[in-house]
Amino acid sequence: MSKTSSSARSDWLALAIGRIEADFQRSADTHLIALPISEFAAAGIDFYFKDESTHPTGSLKHRLARSLFLYALCNGWLREGQTVIEASSGSTAVSEAYFARLLGLPFIAVMPRSTSAEKIAQIEFYGGRCHFVDRAAEVYDASRQLARETGGHYMDQFTYAERATDWRGNNNIADSIFTQMAHERHPVPRWIVVGAGTGGTSATIGRYVRYHRHPTHVCVSDPAGSVFAEFWQTGNATLTSSGSRIEGIGRPRVEASFIRELVDELITVSDRDSISAMRDLSVRLGRKVGPSTGTSFYAMLQLAGDMKARGERGSLLALICDSGERYLHTYFDEAWVNQLLAGS
Ligand SMILES: *Cc1c(COP(=O)(O)O)cnc(C)c1O
Repeated sequence: MSKTSSSARSDWLALAIGRIEADFQRSADTHLIALPISEFAAAGIDFYFKDESTHPTGSLKHRLARSLFLYALCNGWLREGQTVIEASSGSTAVSEAYFARLLGLPFIAVMPRSTSAEKIAQIEFYGGRCHFVDRAAEVYDASRQLARETGGHYMDQFTYAERATDWRGNNNIADSIFTQMAHERHPVPRWIVVGAGTGGTSATIGRYVRYHRHPTHVCVSDPAGSVFAEFWQTGNATLTSSGSRIEGIGRPRVEASFIRELVDELITVSDRDSISAMRDLSVRLGRKVGPSTGTSFYAMLQLAGDMKARGERGSLLALICDSGERYLHTYFDEAWVNQLLAGS
């Protein structure tokens, strides 16, 4: 490589990293919402929700997309003018389209045809293109092929989510949670409940609580149809399934980013229970949450019930992964839900 092109590349690299850092500097932290539930509050058990729906791109994937871009840039994997490609069930693609536009890079999302129209519209709003496949399991090969054809870079969130995120702190989601909990009556949560799509969030929180020697336990709330539950129990990494019906969580294969040793408990939740918990929590909060948040709320109520039965006091925390406004024509539509439940 000639001297000119190598210095031109580093100019762009510095500019690209600078743009992401400036965007971060302009951003505010997400809120932590306390939700008293009377029968539990009286027993000394408190519920909290970290509201990840308020990021500029509407979900917890905003953090992941920022980390994946920085990781790819600092590894020298992403260069000026290159197309960025991602396999996604939608949310990551929305957030990555935002960062690709920030850097002036073309973006292609590879998604199941069933992805909600709202998410497709958002990806296109940020200038991204969508490439559809018939089944969730086809996104990986299709992404690799598109990267070859375009000379682009396949981000591969399902492999890199766990390692692209700073796990010891540096303003990651766990750091923010523990700082915001500081003045609560039970500042160190007994349980943090998260769904697993990539598994990146559960890995980040699991490592953080170990490093900081917090007694907090991590529970993954897994939807029916996902392989994570059986993998967590058996360690069999070759499992496959047809995938979950709760958007954003549960996978048809064991993803490299899901680190089972960092998960203390796993609760499988039926689609019916996820959707009714989504509605219940939306009423309690006065605004709509997405279906994967319902899955976590259901698992949270189970854990809280166990705590209450044992006379244990403490706090439980989950994430509002995204807003229900994204799912008005799907999980908040009764006819659509009836059809989903009939098939599951
Ligand atoms: C990705 C995602 C999750 C799970 O987060 P991971 O860190 O990928 O495991 C939960 N809910 C929604 C809506 C998501 O998009």
